[in-house]
Amino acid sequence: EGIVLGRVCLFNENRHSNLPIYKVEGSGVEKEHRRVDRALKVTTERLEEIRADVEKTLGKAESEIFNAQKMILADQSVVKKIHDLIDRENVNAETAISRAFDYFENAIRKLSQEHFKERASDIAELKGRLLDFLGNMKPSLQCAGLEHCQKGKHRIVVADELTPSMTVELDISDVKGFVTEKGGKNSHGAILARSLGVPAVSGLSGLREIIGCGTELIVDGYKGEVIVWPSEDRKKNVQDILLRKKKHKHTEMVAPIEGFSVMANINSFADVAEALEMQAEGIGLYRTEMDLIANSRLLSEDELYEKYTAVLKAMEGEIVFFRLFDIGSDKVLPFLEIQKEQNPALGWRGLRLLLGKKDLFATQARALARASVNSPVWVLYPMVVDLEQFLAARRFFMEQIADLKIGEIKHGVLFEVPSACLAADELMKYADFASIGTNDLIQYMFAVDRDNELVAYDYHVERPVFWELMANLVQVAKHRGKMISVCGEMAGDVEQIGKLYDIGIRRVSVSARRIPEIRRIGAKKIKGGK
Ligand code: PEP
Ligand code: MG
Repeated sequence: EGIVLGRVCLFNENRHSNLPIYKVEGSGVEKEHRRVDRALKVTTERLEEIRADVEKTLGKAESEIFNAQKMILADQSVVKKIHDLIDRENVNAETAISRAFDYFENAIRKLSQEHFKERASDIAELKGRLLDFLGNMKPSLQCAGLEHCQKGKHRIVVADELTPSMTVELDISDVKGFVTEKGGKNSHGAILARSLGVPAVSGLSGLREIIGCGTELIVDGYKGEVIVWPSEDRKKNVQDILLRKKKHKHTEMVAPIEGFSVMANINSFADVAEALEMQAEGIGLYRTEMDLIANSRLLSEDELYEKYTAVLKAMEGEIVFFRLFDIGSDKVLPFLEIQKEQNPALGWRGLRLLLGKKDLFATQARALARASVNSPVWVLYPMVVDLEQFLAARRFFMEQIADLKIGEIKHGVLFEVPSACLAADELMKYADFASIGTNDLIQYMFAVDRDNELVAYDYHVERPVFWELMANLVQVAKHRGKMISVCGEMAGDVEQIGKLYDIGIRRVSVSARRIPEIRRIGAKKIKGGK
């Protein structure tokens, strides 16, 4: 929700995700070297043209960035790395450029100074330019080449869709809004927008045909409307709304209240600070797979242990639900070689994937178990289908940690699949706790893709059967004496939170920014208000 006026940044979709990858030998090696040299030369010339153009139109200072980019392309450590990759690993020019630039980009992103981080976007942009040249692709998606690509900063990001891996690639620190052609209210792009507290509209297919980088837009997340090149009147109207909102802004923090717990959803340790600021009563969903997506690789047991320990330490004894890696379907890890599936939402994902990739599961289990020494660890099993599967997974978890010194570990079911909800009684007999992942539950219960804008109108909970199922879960948890919470997006929705309270939900987990508002409504409910 919210409204914003701003300029478009066309977020670079997947145009480089299907790069030609091939091995080269003999004279082919020389050819790839030549292709690299040519790409570097032509791109440098193009940058000089842009620099001169910008200097004329915007000024010398603004044009300096292109000099800096030219220097990167001339940097011998960069050039050498690309050529070395071709020689040593017999890869083609596209692969060598991608890998070399990714290497430098990642290295620079790890530096703490903002100044260096900005250089990381330059490196990514240069990689895009080189790959565009090699693939003879139109560079039109790159901020028209006239303005420095800001990867979304101070802009309204417009994209085909925003997948979890794209959202970690994007510099989200200062995005003003999101618009996507694909996706619905509970797609990961929307979840991200909500956690950032910026307006978003999804499902506007064809939008990118009528806008370009720099187009002015109003994004009205209240109405689900986008206005392209708004009139002065409309713009004034938005400014008035924003001014009014600023005046009536509630004081941000709302302290915890007795009888209704509001926890935070996080993607990584970096999100803990905001959770603490909002006085979250624990972490009700740590999407641990996001750490892998953000690093573009699997992490070692030690690396995971350190991350988990850091979160537990920062949360100072509050509950933390670590959801086991939920990989597959919408949460793709491009570096994990997984066979292409016709129906990934019903395929190798969640617990099924973990049980099939035992090394991955074992590594995470051991890291969690080691972290439990200092503070209790609550492990949430994703996409549980039935009791047998849950018990098999828990057994495997315990076998893998048998030799370790451990503290308290609890095992919980994430209810996202209708079959598990129907078997709730027996599942909750064995599980230590439960959470309800309504994003997927709605998808599977009503056979409605959460990421498909064509069916978004049908993705809703205004159906009695949904509430019957939910109320039953609450009753079963009560009967079995187990803690239950809701961590899907509806828990942070002001339209739904009252109904969740009415069926007996007393614990929810939402993105940190939603905490004050949800607590305020919870407090009203406790007092008997509507
Ligand atoms: C859910 O499905 O409701 C959930 C919390 O998990 P995710 O949105 O990560 O699939
Ligand atoms: Mg889910």
